[in-house]
Amino acid sequence: RDEDVRLAEDLAWRAALALDNARLYRESQEAIQARDEFLSIASHELRTPITALRLGIQRLLRLARGGAEPAWKTVAPSLEGIERQGKRLALLIDSLLDVSRLQSHRIQLDLEEVELSAVVRDVVEQFGGALARTHTPLSLRTEASVVGRWDRLRLEQVVTNLLDNAIKYGASAPIEVSVARENGGAVLTLKDGGIGISSERLPFIFGRFERAVSSRHYGGLGLGLYIVRQLVELHGGSIQVESSPGQGSTFTIRLPPHP
Ligand code: ADP
Repeated sequence: RDEDVRLAEDLAWRAALALDNARLYRESQEAIQARDEFLSIASHELRTPITALRLGIQRLLRLARGGAEPAWKTVAPSLEGIERQGKRLALLIDSLLDVSRLQSHRIQLDLEEVELSAVVRDVVEQFGGALARTHTPLSLRTEASVVGRWDRLRLEQVVTNLLDNAIKYGASAPIEVSVARENGGAVLTLKDGGIGISSERLPFIFGRFERAVSSRHYGGLGLGLYIVRQLVELHGGSIQVESSPGQGSTFTIRLPPHP
């Protein structure tokens, strides 16, 4: 009988080990697949602005070789296009660098006294062109003196990423941004009326390399929200999202007055 018990225990142990191995194998396969998928998305995303840059430069080269001096007015749209694509490329590369820095804890916050309402107003202003191009109305409500010891550039990056998404996935519906004081710190909300996110995907959107298959044609590396969350948490803050498909999404960030 003792022998039977030992045999049963041994079998159970082997079965558990086999299950564990199967799980590890499945997880590693999923990780490999996610990495391959990310590489293919990243190559595509980096190639697009480079192609546009080269087209703009070729257009200018043709003009230069044509001999006649072109009016600056005719050249300006090409130069603006080159500037826009160069900026997009730089942003993509910056987010790749940031992810690697965040992974290895190499991001240090540069803390100073910051007025969040002013930061948000600045970012919104920078998006004037994109809002006009996509016919997206935006309303901004800011409270005065929403002050804390924060990293100004990193908060700019947080708001930029969220607003970029709100416009990209916003289907031209009105966007509402608000900044207010709360418990001595700040609360920032960004509400869009766009495509929204399904409840199955919602838990994953802050992950690294998370791109919804359904949102692939919008472009992006799937790193923005990962970076946003990490930066907010480095500040000791939190980020929440509420969303439903077709109804839009609301992102709420809470920051303590200092990390
Ligand atoms: P990216 O936009 O580059 O794909 P993000 O990390 O910024 O990467 O977002 C991850 C995913 O979350 C997006 O692919 C998209 O599916 C979803 N998402 C983010 N913001 C919004 C939003 N405002 N509305 C709808 N979906 C969103």
